[in-house]
Amino acid sequence: MDKSGFIVGIEAGGTSFLLGLAAIKDIHNIVISKRIETVSPEETLGQCKKIIELWGKSHNILAIGVAAFGPIDLTEGSEFYGYITTTPKEQWKFTNILGFFEKSFPSMVCTMHTDVYPPALAESKETFESPSISTAYVTVGTGIGASVCFEDESTIFCEAGHASCPVSRVDQLTGFPGVCSFHKCGCIEGMACASSIAKRAGIDPSELKSLPDDHDVWNNVAHYLAHLCLNITLMWRPKRIVLGGGVMQRSCLFKLIRMKFVKYLNDYVSVPPVDKYIVPPKLSHPGLIGAFYLASRGLKKL
Ligand SMILES: [Zn+2]
Repeated sequence: MDKSGFIVGIEAGGTSFLLGLAAIKDIHNIVISKRIETVSPEETLGQCKKIIELWGKSHNILAIGVAAFGPIDLTEGSEFYGYITTTPKEQWKFTNILGFFEKSFPSMVCTMHTDVYPPALAESKETFESPSISTAYVTVGTGIGASVCFEDESTIFCEAGHASCPVSRVDQLTGFPGVCSFHKCGCIEGMACASSIAKRAGIDPSELKSLPDDHDVWNNVAHYLAHLCLNITLMWRPKRIVLGGGVMQRSCLFKLIRMKFVKYLNDYVSVPPVDKYIVPPKLSHPGLIGAFYLASRGLKKL
């Protein structure tokens, strides 16, 4: 592998795409980055192409890693391998993301995964105890996604964000139906994603930052996220659960989630001290660094 080259990481989210460039030998150092809005696939992917072409004029880019919102098809040999498939984002249904980059940049190695596994991989390596520790990464924003990266870098490819859990007492009283278009009341994403919080508070999702920390909705949302942490713990027993994404910028949520998680787990199994177990990301850009890991892994396979 030519270690003097560069790689591009793309955090392809439902609201925006973040592109970054890094040297292969120093993927924690983002040389340049650019955020663009997620509009139509033609426009957004077209912009990505122009940006990478521009960066390519002054850097020897060898690989691209894409961490994409989904659901995506990762079954090798499948007709839709590398596609975003049944997303609620109408324009993006069955978009061949991987194919687009492979066709646009035939000399580069293109690798794609979900938007949760790469940050789980990147965060799992953020430890001094061993090369990596099993880490679950949950993103809470427009949607809720989760992935677990184990010590050997294998992963659980799942849709844990749509798992169901008991409806909170407050939501039972108000009859809040959730916002998931696929599942009824009780789907964790439908009850705790950004638009569900905004709907309960009677504001637009873009105004969520204006909600005070003592608003009742945070306690209610923490109920669902604590249940998600509980389910992840019981099913996969990771050593750490990292909660990232736009909604988790609200730091008061961590205290509420930890408190409820301890109550719901009720000492059934032992976990590390909760403030070291349910934590914010250590990396400032786990999605982008994760996409760099994907790109370098693609090169190693050559
Ligand atoms: Zn759902």
